Amino acid sequence: MILDALAFGAHADDVELSCGGTLIKLAGLGYKTGVIALTRGETGTRGSAEIRTREFADAAEALGLAAHKMLDIPDGRVEVTWENKLKIIAEIRAHRPRIVFAPYWTDRHPDHENASQLVRAAVYLAGLAKIETGQEAFRPAKLVFCQSRFEFEPSFVVDITDAHRQKMSAIRAYASQFFRPDAPQTSSAPSAPAAPAPPPGETLIARPEFLDHIEARDRRYGAQIGVKFGEPFLVREALKVDDPVAFFGPEYRWTIP
Ligand SMILES: [Zn+2]
Repeated sequence: MILDALAFGAHADDVELSCGGTLIKLAGLGYKTGVIALTRGETGTRGSAEIRTREFADAAEALGLAAHKMLDIPDGRVEVTWENKLKIIAEIRAHRPRIVFAPYWTDRHPDHENASQLVRAAVYLAGLAKIETGQEAFRPAKLVFCQSRFEFEPSFVVDITDAHRQKMSAIRAYASQFFRPDAPQTSSAPSAPAAPAPPPGETLIARPEFLDHIEARDRRYGAQIGVKFGEPFLVREALKVDDPVAFFGPEYRWTIP
């Protein structure tokens, strides 16, 4: 399926947290959007690969995606290899998106950093006809990096005020990841001895205050552009503006220091 925007995450739930509001907004504008998780989330502290797959589908519906898919790269071992690049090249050529979203290249989770490198390489390589995947070569117009744990000075911020409530619904689709003191613990390896329950707060997303932090971040970036909620993005190249008078409308008065 041909997509306008395709977002890659190392794990299911990465994209919802970093650019979910923007994907909801784009779908509302009539664009076809998609999400690809490089892994199935089998080594996540909470839940199992099966639960993650179900939650991923629920979140895809909340985001209004035209396509969503999990690849089979091992969770916790997302490595920068030629084989993995080829898997991502094949997805880019299959969907021919104008814009690709990737995780920011610096992050606390090594899978996120490696996913960033893999997607960046694949976006370029997908345009080289001599790299054979049995598909036509295609290079997206832009690679845009999304913020996860570590902050960056954004190149631009997208107003997601009207999409924010729906973004939080998409995040809540990952119910197994959240703080639930009474929740039964599940394991993806039934033959293994039962693992002791992880203490609450062991994972970032499982902290009781996690959703508050997501909202606070969206408010903070919204404040930078004079709206209620925003999501920050980074591009490595200068942005081309044809008509600065039209581009910098009255709403930019908010941003004069
Ligand atoms: Zn992740």
